[in-house]
Amino acid sequence: MIAYYSINGKITPAGQATLRLNDLSILRGYGIFDYFLVKAGKPVFIEDYLERFTRSAALLYLEIPQLSGSLEEAIEELILVNGLYEASIRLVLTGGYADDGYTPLRPNLLIMAHPYPDINPLYYTDGITLMSYDFQREIPEVKSINYLTGIRLLGELRRQGAQELLYHDRGLLRESARSNVFILTADGVLATPADKVLLGVTRKKILELAAPLVKTEERDITFEELLTAKEVYLTSTTKGIMPVVKVDHHIVGNGRPGELAPVLQDKFVAFTQTYLEQKK
Ligand SMILES: *Cc1c(COP(=O)(O)O)cnc(C)c1O
Repeated sequence: MIAYYSINGKITPAGQATLRLNDLSILRGYGIFDYFLVKAGKPVFIEDYLERFTRSAALLYLEIPQLSGSLEEAIEELILVNGLYEASIRLVLTGGYADDGYTPLRPNLLIMAHPYPDINPLYYTDGITLMSYDFQREIPEVKSINYLTGIRLLGELRRQGAQELLYHDRGLLRESARSNVFILTADGVLATPADKVLLGVTRKKILELAAPLVKTEERDITFEELLTAKEVYLTSTTKGIMPVVKVDHHIVGNGRPGELAPVLQDKFVAFTQTYLEQKK
């Protein structure tokens, strides 16, 4: 079980880890986070996630508190005290306590450990359904803690029999609420939206791993092009590569997960393994 969290570098029993109520994350939804996996006791691709976390913080003008050591050391300490082997870690940087309820002063840094994500295996063998929604995330390069639209639409998703959203900006594909999106075009190009999306670490790795196998492109993708795609996937830290077989009432390809997704997933697993071996 997860016994400890870290607050501003201090290891704290999880049940006693608290923030004051005037934190801007509570009052205004101001803050950023990041999320990565721990495998064999090691944080996976930590360099990429810390780089993004630092970039998100800078874009919201939030200063990461100075700890006694590095942020990576604080993460390793939390892995150690919790005795984690397979788990996930969430870093959160809040706007901090604000006397006037509005102006950030000193951000609070939380490091939380969670169990390893548990995903329905049918989603990989049968594929999932997306519900399209016209929406552009605000300051899209920032992994902000604000998921107003995604969470508000959970009930609607369920009613439509869909598992995830597909955000598009007046017909240009963007991403899902917590994942990036890829299409394998009719002529065999693996494409993903270039702009106005969160730059996923999984997205980056998949683009690198796919390059020797297929032509890859980061560019604009229209909703119409999606409807002619052979395959569609979501990618994220939690999901890896997840096949999509339906978007609204449109069937993707032949309605079954395609052949490229499992190939990429296998390459991704092997690449992760190599990374972990080098970390020893
Ligand atoms: C976290 C997230 C992703 C996926 O990023 P990964 O680094 O692959 O986990 C994509 N879009 C949004 C909005 C996200 O919050």
